[in-house]
Amino acid sequence: MNIDKLKEKDKQYIANTYNRFDLSISKGAGSKVFDGEKKYIDFGSGIAVSTFGLCDREWVEAITKQANTLSHTSNLYYTNPSVDLAEKLCKKASMQKVFFSNSGAEANETAIKCARKYSYDKYGDDRYEIITLKNSFHGRTMATLSATGQDSMHKYFNPFLDGFKYADANDIESIKKVASDKTCAIMFELVQGEGGVNVLDPKFVAEVCAFAKANDILTIVDEVQTGNGRCGSYFAYMQYGIKPDIVTTAKGLGGGLPIGAVLMNEKTENVFDFGSHGSTFGANPICCAGAISVVDRLDEKFLKTVTDRSNYIVQKLKNIEKIKSVSGLGLMLGLEIDVNAKQVAIECMEKGLLVLTAKNKVRLLPALNISYQEIDKGIEILAEVLK
Ligand SMILES: *Cc1c(COP(=O)(O)O)cnc(C)c1O
Repeated sequence: MNIDKLKEKDKQYIANTYNRFDLSISKGAGSKVFDGEKKYIDFGSGIAVSTFGLCDREWVEAITKQANTLSHTSNLYYTNPSVDLAEKLCKKASMQKVFFSNSGAEANETAIKCARKYSYDKYGDDRYEIITLKNSFHGRTMATLSATGQDSMHKYFNPFLDGFKYADANDIESIKKVASDKTCAIMFELVQGEGGVNVLDPKFVAEVCAFAKANDILTIVDEVQTGNGRCGSYFAYMQYGIKPDIVTTAKGLGGGLPIGAVLMNEKTENVFDFGSHGSTFGANPICCAGAISVVDRLDEKFLKTVTDRSNYIVQKLKNIEKIKSVSGLGLMLGLEIDVNAKQVAIECMEKGLLVLTAKNKVRLLPALNISYQEIDKGIEILAEVLK
């Protein structure tokens, strides 16, 4: 179908929730995507999802083999891929137990339920508030939208879920001001992705964790975007030297298939009991097999190459005068510019490079194994657009 026809049918049959770029993608291979014959370098990896690029051979083999063996069972029965993946994640993160969901928002929903039940079991009914940060993003469901600390997200769908308090990032006094004897958890991203690639200050994070610990308030780290090697360590929290009570992840975990995970520590591992939570698709064997092929490759040696690539990119970006600053961690980078970021993304696309935006920053989330040649070519295009 040519793009005009495709656009017309998309408009006719698909809900109008996405303001898409004027591009149809028919094929992908590694860090390249194709629109028919036309080729693009991919600096977005499907919003940090395709960890090893598109249609990565090892990943395709893993999911194909699993699809030919056992495609789905529901959670009424035991399966190997789910247990294998859970064990690997727990060992990587030094956590105790995993709950599998199908997306980031669902993982955060689970974390919110876990925190509330932890507090309910221990303190009773009235201790349910969760503090989140302004400018955060935690998802699109009613609870995770409510958790998201952006006023622009809190319209149309009233009433939102009660029990969220918003504090300023990098300001411990702001946290203490909204905390009370009703507070059961503090939830945050270490690098705010959708909020503009803002890296949290390590001192603030340490203060938050100390304050939480002293008051038996749980810490929930949302690693939906930052996790699975994206920031140069398996999870970003590892670079902060903290031990969260709950970690959520999704995006890059599945390498291109939908899966989310909630990791729980000694404090939270037994909060859920039979019937208190569940998911029909959760721990789908094909998604788990894909995730295993991703997780297995994210060892220390590989993670070092993520940081190497990041340093290389940041160094090269310094030569582009119009980029005023670069924020981020690992291969999650935000470029501060004076011109309209969306317009820059459109012009990059026209020249053969896909980039993302976050607020008015250009956001780069390339596959973790993108080649240096592709990096060079992509930055060349970006430099041309920002000339
Ligand atoms: C993308 C994202 C989510 C939502 O994930 P979905 O899979 O779209 O539901 C939640 N939190 C963060 C930090 C994200 O980046």
